Amino acid sequence: MQHSVQPVESARRQIAAAAFLIAEHQPTSRTLCSCGRLLPCTVATASSRAHDHNSSVLALLLATMELPTIATAGR
Ligand SMILES: [Zn+2]
Repeated sequence: MQHSVQPVESARRQIAAAAFLIAEHQPTSRTLCSCGRLLPCTVATASSRAHDHNSSVLALLLATMELPTIATAGR
């Protein structure tokens, strides 16, 4: 059974979507986003938040998944 794969897949997709939006909304100058909005661009801010959020969700999901390949060799 692989119930834990779906949320991981979902978090990965949202990270990819956020990363795509972030790439589309880069500052072109000190005051302008590449979409034409003044900085801070709301889309860039929201995407960056979504990226951070999903990254931590993914990290949590992966940490709680029981993977036999992950050994605790932290020395
Ligand atoms: Zn923008």
